[in-house]
Amino acid sequence: MMISIAMDGPAGAGKSSLAKAAAKELGYIYVDTGALYRTLGYKALQNGLTIEAGETVDKMLAETSVDIRFVDGEQHVFLDGVDVNDKIRTPEVSMAASKISAIPAVRAFLLEKQREMARHHDVLMDGRDIGTVVLPNATVKIFITASPEERATRRYKELLEKGQQVEYKDVYDDMVKRDYEDSHRAIAPLKPAEDSVLFDTTGNTLEMSIPLLVNLIHERLAE
Ligand code: C5P
Repeated sequence: MMISIAMDGPAGAGKSSLAKAAAKELGYIYVDTGALYRTLGYKALQNGLTIEAGETVDKMLAETSVDIRFVDGEQHVFLDGVDVNDKIRTPEVSMAASKISAIPAVRAFLLEKQREMARHHDVLMDGRDIGTVVLPNATVKIFITASPEERATRRYKELLEKGQQVEYKDVYDDMVKRDYEDSHRAIAPLKPAEDSVLFDTTGNTLEMSIPLLVNLIHERLAE
């Protein structure tokens, strides 16, 4: 049996940095599922599609291949054979990902890909519905969160570091909007799995949170 750690939570809670660091310590593969939704959001934007359920998106999915590959231990997502990792981290793609992820056909399209990863590897997978939908039998489920202000501040700094021109208020508003949409969609909404453990990173730096998280996972694995 493979080990799977499901890590869900809202944008900016520190999920991906924490998940990446914890996976490294544990020797598991880190799977960033948000990147898959971002990739489909990116393709829809590139093609000038209106992102809503219906024939247009169905047609796009029928003509799309999304593959996860690992390059030097890092996850890269290939869209129709092309590595799009450095294209999918903009605020526009974030919003498009959030929109497209509410479409049932999109979630169905990505579900097996995610499960497939967990069938063949020990994984630490992060997303919004990993503990509730993708891996309901995950060995350990963690729901990572932090206050909205802190999450927006982290994301704002991250975008500035990448050289993107953004205003704090826009980042905060986008984040609150995305949280709301992710938590209120009809299909696979963002919510803690009943058997998940809450991990709040408010007030903690990444360096402080990593050992706390790794300890928590070890404790849960030993139960
Ligand atoms: O985690 P990240 O911010 O990269 O995810 C981008 C968007 O993809 C989220 O706002 C959410 O709408 C969607 N998503 C999802 N289910 C997942 C991972 C991401 O719906 N498992």
